[in-house]
Amino acid sequence: MKISIIGTGYVGLPTGVGFAELGHQVVCIDKDIKKVAALRAGRSTLFEKDLDKLLSQNIQAGRIHFTDSICEGIKEAEVIIIAVGTPPHPVTKEADMKYIYAAVSEMANCLDHYAVVAVKSTVPVGTGENVEGIIKDVNPTLDCDVVSMPEFLREGFAVSDFFNPDRVVIGTDSERARAILSDLYKGFPEKTKILLVKRRSAEMIKYASNAFLAMKIHYINEMANLCEKVGADIGELAVGMGTDTRIGNKFLNPGPGYGGSCFPKDTLAMAYMGRMNGVELSLIENTIQKNDERKIEMAKRILKVIQEIPNAKIAVLGLAFKGGTDDCRESPAMEIIAELLRNKTTITAYDPKALENAKILLENKISYADDAYEAVKDADVVAILTEWDDFKSLDLTRIASLMRTKNIVDCRNLWDKKQAESLGFTYQGIGK
Ligand code: NAD
Repeated sequence: MKISIIGTGYVGLPTGVGFAELGHQVVCIDKDIKKVAALRAGRSTLFEKDLDKLLSQNIQAGRIHFTDSICEGIKEAEVIIIAVGTPPHPVTKEADMKYIYAAVSEMANCLDHYAVVAVKSTVPVGTGENVEGIIKDVNPTLDCDVVSMPEFLREGFAVSDFFNPDRVVIGTDSERARAILSDLYKGFPEKTKILLVKRRSAEMIKYASNAFLAMKIHYINEMANLCEKVGADIGELAVGMGTDTRIGNKFLNPGPGYGGSCFPKDTLAMAYMGRMNGVELSLIENTIQKNDERKIEMAKRILKVIQEIPNAKIAVLGLAFKGGTDDCRESPAMEIIAELLRNKTTITAYDPKALENAKILLENKISYADDAYEAVKDADVVAILTEWDDFKSLDLTRIASLMRTKNIVDCRNLWDKKQAESLGFTYQGIGK
């Protein structure tokens, strides 16, 4: 099949590369000409496991191409996937639709044949109708079907999630579009559920899923707070809860609050949708507020440990919003560091993949280390803010020998409290 993807970011690129790997002809389109140039040269513009290898394989096979021109990119496309960003509006915090509507308008201007226009970006309910309206205004005689086909991939696992999705949601009443998209997903694993639903339901499914997962994280964080007060262990609690299949064992890791490019903006957009429709979404509103407060609370924990130490130095391990990605958008680490900086602290940070993206956000307000051991040198506290597997296997004895004062604030529960204490550290985990 001929597939065009408008927006070649964390969703568009793995999706494009994945479809190419399955044998389809793919054109990835992006307005960012630097991105397009890098991709044409076979250089991935973001970190995802296995993405580099699949990208160069498929460029060589001639199955994937890149362009900055929508008109050029959608020629002969049977399916056009929209995967541009929907960040929060700076004032109202609803999803800002300007990138979607600009892309659709440009696409409609030059589309000259039937195509399925599948919106993969996370968009508010009713966007499908708005997209149809734009297409009708710009190109009144065009025959196309606008479908909501939300994306559920997890950053850090984008490639494997592309090939093994739990479900594919296809939101449309058009039989023609349903047939084309069902065909596109025919070769996927048997366990993948293809859900054919109304377009508005598909748009809701995405937001409701993300808001639910964000609430689950908020819930386990509150349980961790209580565990700390009553002497229970959050790890044991999570296993005890998670073995109940009605609850499930995912998203029960306590931490410094959720972050990333999805949960924060999607919960805000959902709360806005509730308010606009006169429906109280108190769980989501509360989750947003408490998640914001949590990051400040984590910074306070770190500050408390060093309050008596003059000119204390903080080592931060982890800047990405979670392990396995270089994405620092809305990363809890960014908020925690901002709060530490407001308290005039000195920080050296290390992240296995996210240093370059973090430098764009934090500039020279902190120092950066080339590895974890360099980061902890002469530090008075080490704060673990991202759950990178690499951090689990660090040599704690070596870390102890490098630090000036031996304090650990482990916001991801990666290290063993007993081992740390036996080496002379004070150790604070979450919910322990
Ligand atoms: P991103 O910012 O990484 O990528 C968006 C890309 O679109 C950018 O490269 C930008 O240059 C490009 N773009 C913007 N306007 C364009 C235009 N008119 N023409 C061509 N390109 C244009 O965003 P992302 O993280 O990939 O997210 C995209 C959408 O998918 C969002 O709605 C997001 O909520 C949703 N989503 C993201 C994830 C995730 O894990 N990142 C998961 C599921 C859904």
